[in-house]
Amino acid sequence: MTLVTALRTLEGEPLASDRTLFLMSSERHGLGIFGGTFDPPHIGHLAAAVEVRSALRLERVELMVANQPWQKAGERQLSSAFDRLALTEAAVRGIEGLAASDLEIQRGGPTYTFDTLCELRGSDPACQLFLIVGADAARGLPTWHRYEELGELATLVIVDREGDAHVEPPAGWAALHVAMPRLDVSSSDLRHRAQIGLPLAPYVPAEVVAGARARGLYGLRKS
Ligand code: ATP
Ligand code: MG
Repeated sequence: MTLVTALRTLEGEPLASDRTLFLMSSERHGLGIFGGTFDPPHIGHLAAAVEVRSALRLERVELMVANQPWQKAGERQLSSAFDRLALTEAAVRGIEGLAASDLEIQRGGPTYTFDTLCELRGSDPACQLFLIVGADAARGLPTWHRYEELGELATLVIVDREGDAHVEPPAGWAALHVAMPRLDVSSSDLRHRAQIGLPLAPYVPAEVVAGARARGLYGLRKS
């Protein structure tokens, strides 16, 4: 398995000179926004965030915990936003450059990435924003609220899982691509594993499993 990180533009051309300069600089710049439900957070989320931060030399990547992921509405009963935030905080603890954000929870209501990017832009107009999405989320971008405007607010970063075909952004969009080793885990599978009594660690960090157990989530019993 190669762990080489690939960076290229939409057409596979070298990055534009300003971006090249940015990437060659040894200083860290920019804020990565990695949104999700994180019910629970797992090793795939953490690896994606770490790989993007390292490849783009970002100062920080924030795991943005959705308050009400409106596209998942009606699918199932989600764990509370407060519980998901606590688990995400536990997941990033001790990993340099990663943080959990409660911005969307504080804002309340249905979670639209458009609002999040506007809020971040408003609080620090000079900060360059990078919107990080996995391949499945990238495919769904055209269904997102005000998605045409997202590209003006942030640079899109698509995380490609090794072995998958390259996912292209919606027509007319440029994106950076970062490759990561394939980690075939999802929160849905992990909730199922917990329900049938299979262990969650190491796919979910031990501290997160302990937090979920203490909160009685995913059918885990308090010991
Ligand atoms: P669920 O199964 O409940 O949909 P999930 O594991 O897909 O959960 P989400 O919170 O839906 O997690 O996804 C948040 C982001 O993490 C998305 O951009 C998604 O593409 C990405 N992602 C999810 N699982 C992985 C993984 N194993 N490797 C890399 N990225 C992932
Ligand atoms: Mg998902």
